[in-house]
Amino acid sequence: MLKDKDRIFKNLYGDDSFALSSALKRGDWNATDKILAKGKEWIISEIKNSELRGRGGAGFPTGVKWSFAPKNVQPNKPHYLIINADESEPGTCKDREILRNEPHKLLEGCLISSFAVGAKKCYIYIRGEYVREGEILQKAIDEAYENGLLGENAAKSGWSLDVYIHYGAGAYICGEETALLESLEGKRGLPRLKPPFPALIGLYGCPTIVNNVETVAVVPEILKRGAKWFSSFGRPKNRGTKIFCISGNVNNPCNVEETMSIPLKELVEEHAGGVVGGWENLQAVIPGGSSMPLLPKQICDKVLMDFDSLIEVESGLGTAGVVVINKDQDIVKCISRIARFYKHESCGQCTPCREGCGWMWRMLERINRGESNIEEIDMLMDVTKQIEGHTICAFGEGSAWPVQGLLRHFKAELIDKCENLGNRKIA
Ligand code: SF4
Repeated sequence: MLKDKDRIFKNLYGDDSFALSSALKRGDWNATDKILAKGKEWIISEIKNSELRGRGGAGFPTGVKWSFAPKNVQPNKPHYLIINADESEPGTCKDREILRNEPHKLLEGCLISSFAVGAKKCYIYIRGEYVREGEILQKAIDEAYENGLLGENAAKSGWSLDVYIHYGAGAYICGEETALLESLEGKRGLPRLKPPFPALIGLYGCPTIVNNVETVAVVPEILKRGAKWFSSFGRPKNRGTKIFCISGNVNNPCNVEETMSIPLKELVEEHAGGVVGGWENLQAVIPGGSSMPLLPKQICDKVLMDFDSLIEVESGLGTAGVVVINKDQDIVKCISRIARFYKHESCGQCTPCREGCGWMWRMLERINRGESNIEEIDMLMDVTKQIEGHTICAFGEGSAWPVQGLLRHFKAELIDKCENLGNRKIA
């Protein structure tokens, strides 16, 4: 279990104030100028050595992403750093705690990250529903300006940085980085085809690095305590500490910072007070937010919570939004509810996603009502395969994977519902 001295987020639960005076006591903005004085090459190489992977879901190595930004800034092509605070993945509420309790950690990270990628403007794209968090963040930005930590010669580093907040309007798809850029430009949030990647052609056609809140917020601590310290947690290629969000049928739903690669069972038992009804009453866990395939109990017994372990069991760490489902739940109804969410949030650009998401939801609803025959179960799998890999953005996979997880591990429940066709209607 992670020791308190190794926690990056010392005020995750808001026991202390978010204000600058308290943040300074916790060590934020401490020697930031000295970090920048070491140069961008040193910063990027240290972040690469730390093996930090993006905390927004995709898990791409952060230092590698930063190195894609052009070395020299062209006069007519300013670089931008975008912080993705559009946290909308069901089951995920970690960035929210950072925004409202540790905003200065994020802002310090913005300054260091902007310097590393050559950006003098940083936009924080925040989920529209996070009104209070946005207010707190704005207060923190104002405090930082008043104290010379942002703006001209920020934190006496010689680098200038302006930070702006932009509120989203409630579309899940705007968390996809290119849809976010479109939205920021004032257009409908429709994902762009990649390539070109934002690192070369991003906001207003200029080089842009998009990073998640948690990713940027951990950067200062890594650079202060060293890449070796950060990479001493977890397993190779799955390093560091991570905020896990645990919800669903647990006794104590919570966010907790823990070491990467912690066993799922330990995470749930030690921090979330265990499964309601006990571990034996566990039916399944969605380990990484709603878009990741669920895992049945026999896998949950042993699996480690990191990127590679979860890929090995055909799921993913995603945002580390752990949703626990016990045996009191109708698992088909749970996944049908998720399918409805994706049907609602599809941006509609790609036919397989636009039509397929509705198909999956309607088929699951028919199965739930006992109106389907067994052949339709395989047809449902066909629909997921028609979506997966055939769309502009990863939303297609995100909508298909939860249904695939259900078919992979709970086919018997689906068959049962189809075989009892008629009984349910009478009931
Ligand atoms: Fe839009 Fe879905 Fe296509 Fe993504 S996959 S661009 S959300 S239609």
